[in-house]
Amino acid sequence: MHAIRDGHSPARSSDLLAFAVVFAIVLCTLIPAHDLRRLAQIMVLALPAMCLLLWPVEALRMRRLRALFVGLWAGGFMIDGAVRAYLARTYQASADSALVLTAVANTGTGESVEYLSMYWPAMLPWVAVLMAGGLAIVWALRRTVVSPVQAGVLRANGARMPLVRRWSALLLCAVLLLSALAYALKPWRRLHPLVFWSDWVASVQELRDEWADQDELRQRTLARAAGLQPTVLSEGPSTIVVVISDSVNRDNLGLYGYTRETTPRLERLRDELGDTFLVLRHAWSVDAGTLASLRNLFWFGNYNAQEPMHVLALARAAGYHVTWISNHDDIAIDQSHAAFADRIERLSRTPGRSNRSADIDTLKPLRAALADPQPRKLIVVHLMGAHPHYSFRYPKGANPFDDGFDVVEHELEQEGRPVWLQVLRDEYDAALLHHDTVLAETFELLRQAPGSGDYRAWLYLSDHGQEVGHDADHAGHSSHTVAGFRIPAIVWQNQARSTLPADAWRRPFRVDWTGWTLAHLLDVRWQGDDRGRDVLDAAYRWADPQLPVSVASFEN
Ligand SMILES: [Zn+2]
Repeated sequence: MHAIRDGHSPARSSDLLAFAVVFAIVLCTLIPAHDLRRLAQIMVLALPAMCLLLWPVEALRMRRLRALFVGLWAGGFMIDGAVRAYLARTYQASADSALVLTAVANTGTGESVEYLSMYWPAMLPWVAVLMAGGLAIVWALRRTVVSPVQAGVLRANGARMPLVRRWSALLLCAVLLLSALAYALKPWRRLHPLVFWSDWVASVQELRDEWADQDELRQRTLARAAGLQPTVLSEGPSTIVVVISDSVNRDNLGLYGYTRETTPRLERLRDELGDTFLVLRHAWSVDAGTLASLRNLFWFGNYNAQEPMHVLALARAAGYHVTWISNHDDIAIDQSHAAFADRIERLSRTPGRSNRSADIDTLKPLRAALADPQPRKLIVVHLMGAHPHYSFRYPKGANPFDDGFDVVEHELEQEGRPVWLQVLRDEYDAALLHHDTVLAETFELLRQAPGSGDYRAWLYLSDHGQEVGHDADHAGHSSHTVAGFRIPAIVWQNQARSTLPADAWRRPFRVDWTGWTLAHLLDVRWQGDDRGRDVLDAAYRWADPQLPVSVASFEN
């Protein structure tokens, strides 16, 4: 009797043991699959069902049902963990990365069987872990299904809750409350295996549907581009490198007058090259987000037209070999732009802001692309730039702005910007400082690439700006403040296609007209060409874009 009231009856102790076993095994299978934060989030999601084991259940049927439910629940989390860990170890990819989604969407049943027959040895350790963990859980859960006699004893004697039990009940309630909160929050909820994998299946299907459409549009566009009969005016080989960055606000570049030294190498290039290193002072994006901005950039700002034209389709029809090098993991970008290229080199395998893949790693494929013997080359390098999280965009510890008090911090403080925003500003500027190195290196690779006497051009711009305490207490993409649209843009040519207008540097420039400037560098002419939108042409005629914010002057 006494033993039972202390919570040491056979039923209670077997419940506690089962809880401990399930908890430990689920935790262990999830550890290789997630970083610490994710791990904590998922464990909070996994807890409520496990906590059922701590609930005083008496009827044998209910105990059976409970064991079955907890077993299935734990199994779901374990399989989820094992699959993610396998993908992370084998491909350095997350399950919802473009790499995995495209591979799965591209795979038929026959190929799946083939894949399994080929890679089963690599999966074996994970299967073994699952089996061993599963068996231990089954063993522990079976012990909670006790005979009705024992359960009856428990009911007769466990009516009054001792103090210790009351405290543990309180703790249980706190855990359940935390779990309820986690389920209420969408970013957390989405990590639950059931939600995650049903979303995942939907993404794969969506992708297949989208491809059918995109494929068709791409084929049509390529055919139409050939029909426009684009021609390259000049003779001889030429190489054009377009570096598209992400989330760079020109106000934070030393090159554009920022007080912090964020662009020492670009400034050195400007000093060395003078006017041929054309820094467009007043460059603007017309969108605050990547997808919309790239759509405008590549489709000549005219995607919704009856027959839109893609600048890469045009380049290919004119005889350029197009390479796309990307540090982004984005299926939409791959499908709507990169797929126009002859070759695609993708570095990142993690979508969105968790992407830690370093921009500097694009140099290797860039060097290879530059060495390609094709006479006419267009190489697009798509960087993460200063995309949030800023601290992921530079090597660990490489933040010279986070100690000491300088003019920028003084300004931020005077404007009443909160401390967390000042910290983010330091990180943002550190990201730009590293970005400066990456940019300068892409430039040097082009300049030093083998071959002599050929034409070379380097075009750099950001897809959109970034708000980091410039006009608001906000850090990130911003369609509500001008900081979200203020971008850098630089053009360099080793020999100009035509004499540049002397005032080119102070002409305002807009991203959705980039296609015409790129066509200038490619030296391509076609039916429907509009020189009035090419910032390098004498015929350039500026028109204010429609932005969601009011801009006092675009020449600022
Ligand atoms: Zn972007």
